[in-house]
Amino acid sequence: MIERDVVGGAAHLWDCIPSKTMIATGGAISYSERIEGMGLADVTTAVDNDGLTNRVEAIKDRMSADTTQLLASQGVEIVRGTARFTGPHSVAVDTAIGTREINFDAALIATGSRPRIPDWCHPDGDRILTTRDCYPPRQFPESITVVGSGVTGVEFVHMFASFGADVTLVVSRQQVLPGKDPDAAAILENDFLGRGVRLLKGARATAIERVTNDDGHDIVRVSCDDGRVVETTHAVLAIGSVPNTDMLDLAAAGVECDDGGYIPINHHCVTNQPHIYAAGDISGKLPLSSVASVQGRKVAEHVMGLHTVEHRHLDYDKAASAIFTEPEIADVGLAEAEAFAMGRKIRVTKVPFATTPKALINNDPRGFVKIVSDPATGVVLGGSIVGQHAAELISVIALAVTANLTVTDIVESLLVHPALAEALAQAAE
Ligand SMILES: Cc1cc2nc3c(=O)[nH]c(=O)nc-3n(C[C@H](O)[C@H](O)[C@H](O)COP(=O)(O)OP(=O)(O)OC[C@H]3O[C@@H](n4cnc5c(N)ncnc54)[C@H](O)[C@@H]3O)c2cc1C
Repeated sequence: MIERDVVGGAAHLWDCIPSKTMIATGGAISYSERIEGMGLADVTTAVDNDGLTNRVEAIKDRMSADTTQLLASQGVEIVRGTARFTGPHSVAVDTAIGTREINFDAALIATGSRPRIPDWCHPDGDRILTTRDCYPPRQFPESITVVGSGVTGVEFVHMFASFGADVTLVVSRQQVLPGKDPDAAAILENDFLGRGVRLLKGARATAIERVTNDDGHDIVRVSCDDGRVVETTHAVLAIGSVPNTDMLDLAAAGVECDDGGYIPINHHCVTNQPHIYAAGDISGKLPLSSVASVQGRKVAEHVMGLHTVEHRHLDYDKAASAIFTEPEIADVGLAEAEAFAMGRKIRVTKVPFATTPKALINNDPRGFVKIVSDPATGVVLGGSIVGQHAAELISVIALAVTANLTVTDIVESLLVHPALAEALAQAAE
């Protein structure tokens, strides 16, 4: 395995693990703010910046060390360096002690992606940030403008708002989380507005620059295409990513990529070269760590010839995903709006968490469970959950979608009481 940076990749270093670690601390702060209604008078939460940074670093190091140890225990050689193809069966690796040539029978390309940086913005890692500068930031912002209201953007809003920053979100459309369930987006928008987040809807950022304001303060000015201007101490760009394929010299191996730089693959993750595989963000499927790792396992099975026994192809339409905001938002499979657009007959049932005792006990009745099923057969086709622990609860619907279970299978499961999962059974009725 060739790695130029940290074993475990972006998920360990910059993305999933550090972001969710900080969001967990932010969640503890938000939780403490709701505590009054639970019979407690006052809880003080002062953020310990060093303690928080140490915690993020410790979890990252632990994850990377565990992965490195696991690989070593399987006899994997880890070569530290940057690889590029030199032919259909060879790579050159630039290491600290020179260039090393490695030949292979089969190769897997899994070089991930990096933040997309438009030409109107020059991140400096100090005040103008990308997703890679935030977990944790060098200095906690007093105020921050988040540009981009997709999954990453809204997670930033939630985290910085939890830590007490004044947050403005630039939303290019009329809804945060474009493409997601409008009911879920509406609950999130309400939460943001309730926490004092400013939403600039229908605006696209066109410039982000550091300027000195009239009071002599060093600030960041974000200008939008509709003439609106926001001034905050920091800004963060969350407008997507680009694949790390441009420096691999793919042509030397005869591997094709599309106009966006992504490498097309078949259902076994094989590229146009039968002995070269691609997985993860560069495959242009779903940019999720969870998907990348399952693709990796499929590649391992295929390259070892194990796919000749009964084999289930990855169905990307059935991948569960979650947004770690307050409340959490998770979905899987067919969405209500998608079904209507396709003209497909569906049955949609929606149950608010407010009807379950556990949500009241937890003093957080926000959100709902929505299940989309086939009206003729009862087979579960998809669902979305907004509320506490949505990222965990969606696993039940994900399993039902993958295994073609019916709503009756869920209703007849003997679930725990009192538990948020009871809303799943109610929604399945
Ligand atoms: C802020 C943020 C939060 C996220 N949170 C989540 C989440 O909660 N859940 C989730 O499922 N997904 C999340 N994602 C997405 C997830 O991080 C990515 O989908 C995942 O990391 C992609 O994995 P990968 O293996 O394709 O690439 P990576 O994890 O990026 O790994 C690629 C590796 O290749 C190395 N590399 C690149 N080029 C070379 C080269 N030429 N030679 C040698 N090594 C090279 C890199 O150093 C890197 O270690 C998040 C993304 C962002 C931006």
